[in-house]
Amino acid sequence: MRFTTLGTGTISLLPDRSCSGYLLETADVRLLIDCGSGITRRLAERGLPWQTITHVALTHFHIDHHGDLPSLIFAWKYGFLPARTLPVEIIGPVGTADLLQRLAAAYGEWLTAPGFPLTIREITPAAAVELPGGLTLTCTAVPHTAESVAYSMGRGARRIVYTGDTGPSEALAAWARSCDLLVCECSLPAGMGIPEHLTPEQCGELAAAAAPKHLALTHFYPPVERVDVRALVAARYAGPVTLARDGWHFDLEDE
Ligand SMILES: [Zn+2]
Ligand SMILES: [Zn+2]
Repeated sequence: MRFTTLGTGTISLLPDRSCSGYLLETADVRLLIDCGSGITRRLAERGLPWQTITHVALTHFHIDHHGDLPSLIFAWKYGFLPARTLPVEIIGPVGTADLLQRLAAAYGEWLTAPGFPLTIREITPAAAVELPGGLTLTCTAVPHTAESVAYSMGRGARRIVYTGDTGPSEALAAWARSCDLLVCECSLPAGMGIPEHLTPEQCGELAAAAAPKHLALTHFYPPVERVDVRALVAARYAGPVTLARDGWHFDLEDE
C-alpha cells in the first residue's frame, strides 16, 4: 500500500498546502480520500493516475474536503479520450447521497450519471466496506460535524488510519490502536484550540493512547506552524513523527 498526502492544508489558501486530499494505492484499488480544492491539480502535478481512481471516500461535508469532486467527475467524463468506462464508487457518511444529489441539481445530472457506472455508498461505523484485493475500509464517528468520520484502511495485518477533521476523542484513540500509520489532523495551536479540532498537544496525547507505529500530522492552519509542533508532540508520544507536506508518501509492505 502507498498512502500519499496530496493536500495537507485547510481553507487557509496557501501556495504549498492544498485543501484536504489523500490517495491510497494498492495493486487493485486507487482510493482518493477527501477531494478539497486543489486536489485535482495535485494529482496532475504528481503524475498520479487520476483517470483510473476506483473509489472516493469523503470524511465530512466541509467544502475544503470535497470542493474539487465535481471537477474530478467532470474530468472523468470529458477530460480524456476514449471516455472513461471504469466504474467508480463514492463512499461517505450518511448524507453523502443527498450532497451529491444537491450538487447535481446545481451542476447537472452528469454529476451522478456521468456516462460510466457511478455508485454512492453510505458507510456507517457498523458496516465494513470490502474493496478489491482484500482491502477493508471502516469508519468511526469523530467530534467535528454531525456526519464526520475517521477512516481505517486495512489489508492483512497492515492498517492506516486517517482522522479526518476531529476534536479530541478517547474513542478515536482506542479505535486507531496499534495501526501502522496514523494520519492525524493538527489544526490549531493551544491558545486557539476548539473542541472541533486538535492542537499539537492533543495530537501527542492521541498518539500516546493509540500507539501507532508512525504518526503523520496534516491539516495545518498557518498559526499552528508558528509553534514547535514537533517538540510539543514528542513530549507526549515517543514514536516517529512526520509533519506531512503535499506530496509526501508512506509505503507499507504486506506482512
Ligand atoms: Zn478541514
Ligand atoms: Zn471540517
